[in-house]
Amino acid sequence: MPHFPILGIDSVEVTVEQSQRLVVVSNRVPPASAVAPQGGSGSVSVGGLVSAVKPTMERYGGIWLGWSGRSTQRRGSNEPTITDLGRLQLATLDLSEDESSMYYTGYSNRTLWPLLHSFPGRVVIRHDTYRFYRRINRRFAEAVFSILKPGDQVWIHDFHLFHVGFELRQLGWTGSIGFFLHVPFPSADIFSILPWSKETLEALLHYDLVGVHTDRYLRNLLDTLDSELGGSLDDRGIYSFEGLSSKLGVYSIGIEPSVFQRKDTEDRRGLTEEISLNADPNHRLIIGVDRLDYTKGIPHRLRAFERMLEHHNHLRGKVTYVQISSPSRTRVPEYVQEKEHVERLVGQINGRFSEANWVPIRYLYRSYPQYDLARFYHDADVGMVTPLRDGMNLVAKEFVAAQGEENPGVLVLSQFSGSASSLLDAVIVNPYDVDGTAEATYRALRMPLAERRSRSKSLMEGVLKHDASAWSESFLHDLGVYSAQVSVV
Ligand code: UDP
Repeated sequence: MPHFPILGIDSVEVTVEQSQRLVVVSNRVPPASAVAPQGGSGSVSVGGLVSAVKPTMERYGGIWLGWSGRSTQRRGSNEPTITDLGRLQLATLDLSEDESSMYYTGYSNRTLWPLLHSFPGRVVIRHDTYRFYRRINRRFAEAVFSILKPGDQVWIHDFHLFHVGFELRQLGWTGSIGFFLHVPFPSADIFSILPWSKETLEALLHYDLVGVHTDRYLRNLLDTLDSELGGSLDDRGIYSFEGLSSKLGVYSIGIEPSVFQRKDTEDRRGLTEEISLNADPNHRLIIGVDRLDYTKGIPHRLRAFERMLEHHNHLRGKVTYVQISSPSRTRVPEYVQEKEHVERLVGQINGRFSEANWVPIRYLYRSYPQYDLARFYHDADVGMVTPLRDGMNLVAKEFVAAQGEENPGVLVLSQFSGSASSLLDAVIVNPYDVDGTAEATYRALRMPLAERRSRSKSLMEGVLKHDASAWSESFLHDLGVYSAQVSVV
């Protein structure tokens, strides 16, 4: 019988009856080969959601339902295709070309994504994409409903599926449903740009429990609920409006540290070899790892690196910045433009500073399995995680976990990433301030060993304490507790 131990309360355990299954729903599910018992760690899983949910599913078992990623000629069946992997079953839906381009590329990626990341100038408002989004949310709900059994715990993930809880209630599901938002929640002024803001917020209140990453996102959500709906919050954190009630809470997502931890004795020059740098042990390495997304601030970071080389001549030939940019949403026009912008900048900076035996920026437009990323993080002197806005940013935590105790690297972290609220011993920067980021990176490169060790130790304690298991355990525990409470409000 699986059990969910409660965080911080050693003597209590939440037991889940055999009949009570965990049913997780997200836009995408990873391929079966990545979650099969013998698969996993070597596979490329790009994106924080899959990185965090995968260990949860591997641990508890249950059903994980999502889009297969296939776009078919015709509308797919509402019946999910089930792949049985022992304790875990993957249930997948196919979407037609139209459906994926309107629901996913259109409304999810061009409306909600920039809105929730506070890029109002990039928000595209189209009524037709919203209609598709609602239709696909209904299809997801019907697919989930078709496999639900009494007592199941349903956990819906992320902004692609805001309305699935509402649709499940319409279909008659009265059991518990939780929702976790993996991206930021913006200020009320930004959220109100959405013509469907009120119905989206009302949809949220059909969940028993709604989780966000940080206190700030929760404050934004509460403020938006107050200004758009005008409900009330009680002292248990349950928000009520016109007969609807939801518990709202903060659940900071974490990583599985063991996937990234490396021993000091392991070769520190894996990355050097990988990119064929000269073997000078004093050569310094800076690393950035991001999906190629405009929220990640890659151009600002490249400018900061350039500024550092301008201001500190002596670094030329002595430091290399490795940027891994994994391809993402390649059919969305804003992403095509961002890719071109980044490539132009890399070309300009390399053109300006390169010497016969040194190229300042190694730009890798590809994805790596996490096993390789762990080696790269470990080898780097500085990890630059400088998004303009990011829900959590797991790469920051992965970089921390991969540092050894002897000679740890330094994390340079944007104040606008969710992880900055807990990784207080990183070197915190404002990525819009290019000069400031350049100087902070320079300081990070020169940081004395004792300071590196003490910062790294305290960062590591936080990463170990708030890991992926702690996140899912606390959410699932509260879902069990509050689904009983909200139903009697
Ligand atoms: N990732 C990966 N291979 C890559 C690049 C990234 O496996 O080449 C993983 C990385 O390890 C991390 C996730 O993708 O777990 C990115 O999550 P993050 O929260 O940093 O950002 P997101 O992509 O969700 O915006």
